[in-house]
Amino acid sequence: MRASFAQGTTRDIKFRKQQLNSLLAGVRKNSKLLLDALSMDLGRPTVESEVFEIAPVEYEIGQFLKYMDKWAKPDKHKLGSEQAALLMCSMEVRKVPHGTVAIIGAWNYPIRLVLLPLIGALAAGNTVVLKPSELAPHSAMAIEILVSECLDPNAVRVVQGGAAETSELLKQKLDHIFYTGNGKVGRLVAKAAAEHLAGVTLELGGKSPVVVHHDVADLGATATRIMWAKLANSGQTCVGADYLLVHRSIKDKLVVLFRNFIENAYTKSPQKSPDYTRIINGRHWQRIMELLDATKGNIINCTDDQADQADRYIPPTLVDGVHPNDPLMSHELFGPILPIITYDTLDEAVNLINSRDQPLALYAFGSSKTTEYIVANTRSGSAVSNDTMYHMAANNYPFGGTGPSAGLSVDQKVCVCRLSEQINKAKPNSNSETKLFKSLAIILNDRTALEAFLTDPNSNSYRAGLVSLAQTIKQYAWRDHYDQQLMSDFQTVANRLKELLAW
Ligand code: NAD
Repeated sequence: MRASFAQGTTRDIKFRKQQLNSLLAGVRKNSKLLLDALSMDLGRPTVESEVFEIAPVEYEIGQFLKYMDKWAKPDKHKLGSEQAALLMCSMEVRKVPHGTVAIIGAWNYPIRLVLLPLIGALAAGNTVVLKPSELAPHSAMAIEILVSECLDPNAVRVVQGGAAETSELLKQKLDHIFYTGNGKVGRLVAKAAAEHLAGVTLELGGKSPVVVHHDVADLGATATRIMWAKLANSGQTCVGADYLLVHRSIKDKLVVLFRNFIENAYTKSPQKSPDYTRIINGRHWQRIMELLDATKGNIINCTDDQADQADRYIPPTLVDGVHPNDPLMSHELFGPILPIITYDTLDEAVNLINSRDQPLALYAFGSSKTTEYIVANTRSGSAVSNDTMYHMAANNYPFGGTGPSAGLSVDQKVCVCRLSEQINKAKPNSNSETKLFKSLAIILNDRTALEAFLTDPNSNSYRAGLVSLAQTIKQYAWRDHYDQQLMSDFQTVANRLKELLAW
């Protein structure tokens, strides 16, 4: 790959665009292959995989195709204006590729974690070696098929394997390494990069806390948003809600609301629900169950199910009365278990967060004053007030950790996403949204109306708006309602969008 970089093929911006277009076509053509692979690896519902893995990849490629000419242009600076000796010069800052980049992915979102960095690396003119996670073998194979079908082997190659193969890859002279995974391996990656003085980006994890203060506007919406972040992908999400800090006066009410949410979303037996993801493998199942066995907290079973090793199934579980030194607080949980710690003063919660490694994300629920106090007095990769994981939808905001959740990565900005109290106060209105979906579905199924819409001179901006609207609605629909009718109407909309707007 170094030799093909040296030949200069990937430096041609037309070539880069052609590769991105081909990748987009390949992702669309192979979307069933990718979704089936995710289902086999994680037992994950299709809608979750579409929202979290396929749609962001398509969207990201669209963004790069739209903006890469602008992004690739040299920055012209009015240099020398204060240095007389330079007044006669013209200077510019050019964007040049690193060279050969390795992208090493993790298993929990096995498609997006390699394809999203691949898009940026390709668009920037690098040659790329992809190493998907061996713990999601079907997805790793689907990525290899996708890449071999639609990308130039002189630009991108896939290497399969586990620790041994990755270590071998890391011995090569690479120009940049992009690694997503746990901090222990992150340290090995950083050491390997140091050998060749290669650049390194580490996307790591950590225990992301949720704080709920007594002045929160709507406890029902709060419960939904927290459990959504806990149970999406069965808790195997880097920015998922790891543990809860809650004011003593509202804890019992919140627990009742959590239980209601679980039953509404997944029934009393989530094991039988098509919407509930499995744990990636037996080793991780065992790890989570050992933590649960060791806890001194009070386990609250929220379903009629038992954990089932053969099925890699762990039911949603709340653990109340957890002490900060409890085994459940020792490491990132990465499973569908929510430890609950009760506090009496906000500073107790803030001090507890600050006594631990800086998390990748922090979620603060309460009045604007309270959430601002929490965000201003803690450090985290991202902070969101009155919602969870919402910042992941904001593609033009920086994402990453800080301290141990980012490793050596530099230039991290803390992204603070504030949702107004009004949003939290606004109760989801399933009926009106169902109506909205119905009318959208009707419009999109009416080819004449749609064609008229598309021939409008402003259709490009409408199109972008519609796609972005559809993605936002999809996330909300899926999370806030778990309404089958709504989802089926949404599927109609999404399918028509995909087919007719080629998003
Ligand atoms: P994993 O087991 O898939 O490992 C990640 C990669 O490291 C794999 O490709 C694997 O082959 C390689 N690897 C494993 N052991 C190795 C070794 N000894 N030497 C060299 N390479 C090795 O994934 P994981 O580490 O379990 O991932 C989960 C972690 O990733 C969590 O902490 C999670 O929070 C974090 N994560 C972070 C982000 C983010 O964007 N910040 C996203 C997803 C996951």
